[in-house]
Amino acid sequence: MSFDVMDYFRQETLPHIWCPGCGNGIILRDFAVALERLNYPRDEVVIVSGIGCSSRAAGYLNFDTVHTTHGRALPFATGIKLANPNLKVFVIMGDGDSSAIGGNHLIHAARRNIDLTAIIFNNNIYGMTGGQFSPLTPRDKKATTAPYGMIEQSFDICRLAEGAGATYVGRATTYHNQLLTQLIIDGAQNPGFSLIEAVTHCPTSYGRRNGMASPSDMVRWQKDNAVWIDKVRAGKAEVKDGQFTIGLLHRHEAPEFTQAYMEVIKRARGQE
Ligand code: SF4
Ligand code: MG
Repeated sequence: MSFDVMDYFRQETLPHIWCPGCGNGIILRDFAVALERLNYPRDEVVIVSGIGCSSRAAGYLNFDTVHTTHGRALPFATGIKLANPNLKVFVIMGDGDSSAIGGNHLIHAARRNIDLTAIIFNNNIYGMTGGQFSPLTPRDKKATTAPYGMIEQSFDICRLAEGAGATYVGRATTYHNQLLTQLIIDGAQNPGFSLIEAVTHCPTSYGRRNGMASPSDMVRWQKDNAVWIDKVRAGKAEVKDGQFTIGLLHRHEAPEFTQAYMEVIKRARGQE
């Protein structure tokens, strides 16, 4: 049977609101392909999002979706998963959403190793609100709130997630979109907290302020600066200043939160 991406969309919500050349549509398609390959029953999938350009993605998908408040997608998703641990819960967040106002929730979802699959659309900026810098805007890059260049240090959200306890962490870009699909599939199958960073291009709010006015300039930048982690581990590549790794960055096994919670309920009821 052939795959028709439109089967996965609420067609009455289209056309989408994203700018021409935005990378969000590429990620959304990759996510739809991953859902098709995962082949979960549609009514067992829940997609939760926060606020921002990327978080509009949830509403376009023809599943049970919840468009929540800024930075609070993970608490909503945690409640949904705890209420029914059989559900496959995906969480869509932007870089501002997940690393600033929602940063604390990200740390604790990872620490608990709750079985959620978080997809971070990282365009290095607050796109929807007009291009303010986020904690993931690299130093010296320009934003409406940093017209002379960002003076704060950014951080690697994958390393943060790993340090906090996430059991599956991967990164791809809108150029490496087959990798992105595979990471979403593998992350969904990991029985614990999975974080997949999707480095995406925002020509409107980020690129045109930073010497990459066209989508193709931005995608070329991704191609030239993403370094496969397998090559780094094999000593065949190195990560130069300003570059970043892609691929499966981290994986380990640990007890999953909702399972542990159900065990506590059984114990409290004297059922074991
Ligand atoms: Fe996409 Fe950026 Fe436009 Fe938002 S502002 S829709 S992220 S290109
Ligand atoms: Mg953003």
